[in-house]
Amino acid sequence: MEAGLFLPKAGRRVNDNATSVKHFNGQGAYWSSTFGSNAEGFTDCVTVLGFNASNVIVYGYTEKWKESFGIGDTQCGNMIRPVIYNPSDEISSPKTAPTANSLRPWKKGEMDIHLINSARGECNFVIMPDGTSLVIDAGEIGENEELVSRKPSNDSSDPMFARVYKVYTTYMKYFLQNTRHNYIDYALATHYHTDHIGAPKTNYKMSRDGSYIVCGLSAIYEDIPIKTLVDRKGPGVGFNDFAHYSEDDIHEDTYNNYTTFAQKMVTRDGMVWQAVSEVNRDSQFAPKYGTPEASLKLIGYDYKYWNGSSFTTGSTDNRENGSSISMLLSYGDFNCYFGADCGAQCGYNIMRNICSGVGKVEVLKAPHHFAESAFSDTQAAILQPKVTVVSCFGNNTPNDACVTAADAFGDVFATNNGSGVSLKDAGGHLCVRVQGDGTFMVYKLKDTDYSYEVLASYGPYTCH
Ligand SMILES: [Zn+2]
Repeated sequence: MEAGLFLPKAGRRVNDNATSVKHFNGQGAYWSSTFGSNAEGFTDCVTVLGFNASNVIVYGYTEKWKESFGIGDTQCGNMIRPVIYNPSDEISSPKTAPTANSLRPWKKGEMDIHLINSARGECNFVIMPDGTSLVIDAGEIGENEELVSRKPSNDSSDPMFARVYKVYTTYMKYFLQNTRHNYIDYALATHYHTDHIGAPKTNYKMSRDGSYIVCGLSAIYEDIPIKTLVDRKGPGVGFNDFAHYSEDDIHEDTYNNYTTFAQKMVTRDGMVWQAVSEVNRDSQFAPKYGTPEASLKLIGYDYKYWNGSSFTTGSTDNRENGSSISMLLSYGDFNCYFGADCGAQCGYNIMRNICSGVGKVEVLKAPHHFAESAFSDTQAAILQPKVTVVSCFGNNTPNDACVTAADAFGDVFATNNGSGVSLKDAGGHLCVRVQGDGTFMVYKLKDTDYSYEVLASYGPYTCH
């Protein structure tokens, strides 16, 4: 869709019914005057893809505000006025600026686990020891009053300010240098929440063909193409298949925007798009470039868990967090538990069941941002993580009880410390770098610019 000035007159009320707009014919983005400005300084708007033969407006997306602000959904019938597409949220790509203190890029034989800190969603990035790359989630959410300060900057006039996905892709390109790959081998969407796959906000640009809004994981693809995309359900599933889920647990526009992106890249670029596979649980994310080998194994999804020999259904609780894909990343004796948002807060002891099939790990990627009740002594006693790394961005996370449970067995690090609890360290991108002998280091990297300077380093740690 091109930027432009569109036809409805300022302030004209359109209230015939919920879906029709008369007298106008134009395509573009229209302000919705109902909801004013958000904290980012962008007034939200509805995207109009066009009009059908009856002059009924066709919306690409309607902004859901109910979750964040409790004031209802934007929909037609609101007053609208024309706007010129504002590219201010599409600030040109940041430039990396490494210094003598920067963490050097990955090199062969090491395994890197990065928690990239935008403070507006979770994005984990792994480079396996052979150079195979993997993105686990790429969330991109808007502003609300319950979040810590955005990184690298909250201020849109600051040269460091960028779209959330640019924070991720700039970081990834820097650490990918020695792989000589300008693509990502695998992307895993653990579940369909906006802080993991992106919220399609209407002030973001559209895809080139105008079929989806570029955000989160789909935005990563704009900068670094993805070879294989894996999620819970894969292709061939519609939003109605989630009708049994609780209202608002998955947003229809979020899901549809994501799946439209995935299908388009399958058609356009030959991207592989798959549902997570029990049958190929050991091999779905196989290293592509030979030795040394690491592995990423499926250990839980959809309230099922690996019991050591097969998958068992724990329950059908039908909550999206508990349905998250859980994985075990291994390199020699080193193991890292990635439980996405499936934590102790989820019903039917599902996380405890998943943990029980795994046992002790060296590193825990904290479940559910260490929000309240996400982790307990029970889970900690099974996993006994020597290091826990938390991706969190709420002003009340990480939760003190979760940290205490993990701290009983090792050091706890967080990307942000909105709650002000006692931690080993917090406030930066986090990198766990694993060597072939199983020893590993934890680095806290500067997140207020694009230098990736090491602010602090911890270790070496050894395996259990
Ligand atoms: Zn989450």
